[in-house]
Order: sequence, then C-alpha cells, then structure tokens
Amino acid sequence: MRDDLENKLGLLKYRFDEEAHIVVDKEECSSCESKPCIPSCPAGCFKLEDGELTFQYEDCIECGTCKIICPYDVVDWSYPRGGFGVVFRHG
Ligand code: SF4
Ligand code: SF4
Repeated sequence: MRDDLENKLGLLKYRFDEEAHIVVDKEECSSCESKPCIPSCPAGCFKLEDGELTFQYEDCIECGTCKIICPYDVVDWSYPRGGFGVVFRHG
C-alpha cells in the first residue's frame, strides 16, 4: 500500500516556494507523546530524527491533515502563495 502511495506521489509536480506555507512551532512537540502528525502525513513531511521532530514543507500535498490532527494546535497552516505548491496530475 505504501508503495502504491509512493507511486502516486511520484505523479505530482511541485513548484517550491521559498516561503514555507506551513510552520510548526515545535515547542510543544517534545511533550506530545503520540506524535500523530508522523504517521498521518501522506507525504512523510514529519519525521523523528534523534528523538526530535523534523518537518519539511517541500513535499506537502496540501491535504490539511496535520492541522486537524495536532492535539496541541501548533501547526500554522495556509495554502502556498499563488502559483506555488503541488499540481495534481491524473494518470
Ligand atoms: S502532532 Fe503536533 S504537537 Fe504533536 S509532534 Fe506533531 S506537530 Fe508536534
Ligand atoms: S498538509 Fe498534509 S501533506 Fe502537507 S504536511 Fe500536512 S499532513 Fe503532510
């Protein structure tokens, strides 16, 4: 299933904006035990490295899950500026 998802993600096209459209205030992340953002993000933007949460917005597919699922409401979410972000292609 993950392979299937990765194949589908490979069909997407991105136009990166140097200005992040999602900012995570990580102050609360160390006390967030379950870290639901990590398994919930379909693009794998949230990871745990050496016990610390890392976030990279570049692969984001703008689904909004991280904003909804974060129990501490530390995900400052917006769509990328016009002309930037993911382009969904069919096929
Ligand atoms: S769910 Fe929210 S508070 Fe928890 S680790 Fe992720 S961003 Fe941090
Ligand atoms: S909006 Fe979706 S794809 Fe983007 S970082 Fe949040 S969960 Fe991941």
